[in-house]
Amino acid sequence: RTSGRLGGLNSENFGAIDSKNLRVKLVLLGDSGVGKSCIVLRFVRGQFDPTSKVTVGASFLSQTIALQDSTTVKFEIWDTAGQERYAALAPLYYRGAAVAVVVYDITSSESFSKAQYWVKELQKHGSPDIVLALVGNKADLEEKREVPIQDGMDYAEKNGMFFIETSAKTADNINQLFEVKL
Ligand code: GDP
Repeated sequence: RTSGRLGGLNSENFGAIDSKNLRVKLVLLGDSGVGKSCIVLRFVRGQFDPTSKVTVGASFLSQTIALQDSTTVKFEIWDTAGQERYAALAPLYYRGAAVAVVVYDITSSESFSKAQYWVKELQKHGSPDIVLALVGNKADLEEKREVPIQDGMDYAEKNGMFFIETSAKTADNINQLFEVKL
């Protein structure tokens, strides 16, 4: 695995090398307010909506992308907004997920602890071959940083996860997260 980024999302990661049209269930997990919805909106629509409200319940968006090997991947992106309050339902939510993206906010060490909780949950209840990514979002807020980049990297490395810091606000690394070359 490439360290430092989610790179390498290609057909082989999903064990369906013959298929040219893959469906990938991708779930986002993380504390409320870390920017999950904004990351999805930035990726799917190329927009950042600073008025984005914390929604309750899961929302669902899909995005079809073409990979370099001409496979198309339809990401089914499940955003857990509010999900942390329904911890008992979580295993239902990430069942069948090929990719889980665990997001924290680099300006909140509490959200980083919460991310570690979700990683443990996924290791316990997720599919054994799930691709895990750790994302430190709000990287534009450097002056308020509470979580050193090295801490994110070290944790990801120890747990065999991809790692990247993003900003849904400036669009930094959002496409790299999904490894989309535009
Ligand atoms: P969710 O609960 O994890 O889905 O979080 P949201 O996507 O609703 O975002 C929560 C708040 O964080 C909103 O006010 C966003 O405007 C803000 N936000 C999200 N991503 C970023 C980012 O990358 N940088 C900054 N500065 N603010 C962000």
